[in-house]
Amino acid sequence: MKLEISLAKDAAVLAQRLCELERLQHPVWVFDLDNARILWSNESSLQVWQADSKEELLSRKMGTDMSVSVSERLNQYKTDFARDETAQFNEIWTMYPNGEPVTLNVVFSAYRLSPDRLCMFCEGVTEKAAGAETLRSSEALLHTSVHISLYSSAGTPLYRNPASRNVVSSATNKLQDHFVNPDLLRQLENPAEDEIQAITSVNTVNGVVWHDITARRCLDAVSGEAAWLISEVDVSKLKATEEHAQFLAEHDTLTKLPNRNYVSIYFQQQIDNVLTAGKSGGLLFIDLDNFKNVNDSLGHDAGDQLLVEVADRLRSLEKSQYSIARLGGDEFLLLINPIVSEQHLESIMQQIINVVSVPIILQGREVQVTPSIGVALFPDNGTQILDLMRHADLAMYHAKEAGKNDFAYFSKELSDAAESKMNLVSELRSALKGDQFETYFQPRVEVSSNSIVGAEALVRWNHPTLGQVQPGNFITACEESGLISELGKVVFKDAVVAQRIWAELGHDIRISVNLSPLQFNEEHLVDELLDIVKEHRGNPKKIELEITESVLLGHDRCTIDKLHRLVECGFEIAIDDFGTGYSNLAYLHRYPISCLKIDRSFINSMDSATPIIELIVSMAKLFDLYVVAEGVETPEQLEMLHKFYCQEYQGYLFHKPTDFKSFTALMSQHCNIAA
Ligand code: C2E
Ligand code: CA
Ligand code: CA
Repeated sequence: MKLEISLAKDAAVLAQRLCELERLQHPVWVFDLDNARILWSNESSLQVWQADSKEELLSRKMGTDMSVSVSERLNQYKTDFARDETAQFNEIWTMYPNGEPVTLNVVFSAYRLSPDRLCMFCEGVTEKAAGAETLRSSEALLHTSVHISLYSSAGTPLYRNPASRNVVSSATNKLQDHFVNPDLLRQLENPAEDEIQAITSVNTVNGVVWHDITARRCLDAVSGEAAWLISEVDVSKLKATEEHAQFLAEHDTLTKLPNRNYVSIYFQQQIDNVLTAGKSGGLLFIDLDNFKNVNDSLGHDAGDQLLVEVADRLRSLEKSQYSIARLGGDEFLLLINPIVSEQHLESIMQQIINVVSVPIILQGREVQVTPSIGVALFPDNGTQILDLMRHADLAMYHAKEAGKNDFAYFSKELSDAAESKMNLVSELRSALKGDQFETYFQPRVEVSSNSIVGAEALVRWNHPTLGQVQPGNFITACEESGLISELGKVVFKDAVVAQRIWAELGHDIRISVNLSPLQFNEEHLVDELLDIVKEHRGNPKKIELEITESVLLGHDRCTIDKLHRLVECGFEIAIDDFGTGYSNLAYLHRYPISCLKIDRSFINSMDSATPIIELIVSMAKLFDLYVVAEGVETPEQLEMLHKFYCQEYQGYLFHKPTDFKSFTALMSQHCNIAA
């Protein structure tokens, strides 16, 4: 016994005990858990281990070909003993000395060699002569990763397999200590339940984890009393994957902020809570001003970077009473729960404006974006998240229309206006189907001869109950709803048909048609216009397209190319309402334009605008453009145009816009056939 056991404090006592054990009939050995070696054995265990001598047995390195499950089991004994040195386990073990299975019923207990060294005392009680089935099932129970345990109906532990022992913080833990969710315990107490299955959180040495458990009512084989047999599998990883999937479904991948799905569930819950507490709150709809410009000019990556930065800045404001979400694009929501006072709310909005407006460097350039914010209050403006979002959105649009970088409150008037706009759009839609639009024509007159040389096509809506409605009341709604594209084509077709018929009557005048910016930007505009011209046998050389200066603003290649294609097809291009937009005469030579229409406002305020009119006319001559003065109402105005050699005019002085039939009659009186 030259063993390390002699290191133990009470070595003498142990030596004495070992001598007694030496004489025992059943095998006894001491196992070094740290080094996986036998430190001592009695004679009869030599047989079990099929060893020639004690020296040979003690020299065996058991760790070298040890299976993972056995080594895990040994580690676990170590943990078990570290927790409770008085613990004892009686288990059926199968060992494989020289590859042959030897099955023993072994009692394992701890023995401390030194303060930091623990070994295991193993005592083979009876050699098992059990059947193969029993041997395999007990092996399976020992080595499985499934946690199997038996509890009395009062919740006291009766048995735990190693996997189960491995995770409990104390061997005496009851079932009540194990489950985090008290509902499950209540279910177990219900005598009607025989089997319960659940995925639930449980307390373990590693903290709270998720287990998939099956609890089955049974009888304890020893006492015959009612018991619960519980098997558990750790599903924490699966649960984490599921939670991650859930996170992805409810969050925006770019900014990691909650998304629309999240908002519809959790924002509603928060609103409900505030309302139940008798308080009030606010929902802010935040939209970035001119975000599209950043995307268009610096690219989508820069746009994304900007959104992430804005999200972080908004997050930096997030306190326990705010929740932030991104709805998509450059739209964010902020829920304030609860609102203490109006000043409180407005100070939050001011903070948002302040943090968002701080310039950010994107691709080496300093970019500044500002927010427009719409507010809906609850319960005043609604209690349902979808209503509040709609209302806050409407208020945000109002803030944008009022000049951006500011906030606006939702009001009944806003929603009434929005509602009547919606009604208008649906009426316009059916008006298009029902042919309620009619194209009127206003003469364009040569200043020198006072004869009709052209006409502008102007749409009218023959409303079934309201009578004739002027375009000022519906063109904007058509543009906002996209209907302008269809309406524009109807007017264009009418213009082409009128031009052909009048030419056939000998009045081959030029007809101008208004093209809204939205129409101009349509991808297939040129082909569509050509198709209409072909179908109605029109002459594109006698059709002029009126565009506004805003179309030219971008100075981009696409615009220039499209204008050239239109001109190549024979159309002429006029700039409408000239002078009201950016009025940069210098850029005009870049575009294939043939006509400028001076806006009515200049003709109206003739005295103050005279120098401007004179300048426009003389510049236009320089660029070889002809000039049309719009809105001429008095002979004095016409006189001035004479003086400046302005070529054409249009106005009530000569004639108001009129229908096709009246215009045809008008031409027979005034038209210069040679035009
Ligand atoms: P616009 O293109 O500037 O058309 C000229 C407007 O001035 C017409 O108003 C015409 O009736 C009006 N006008 C002409 N002479 C005088 C005058 O001496 N005094 C006054 N006070 N007004 C005069 P209208 O027809 O009400 O059209 C308003 C606007 O609606 C048009 O302004 C144009 O921007 C738009 N619009 C009309 N028809 C169409 C269309 O088919 N397509 C598009 N996209 N816009 C259209
Ligand atoms: Ca026009
Ligand atoms: Ca005009």
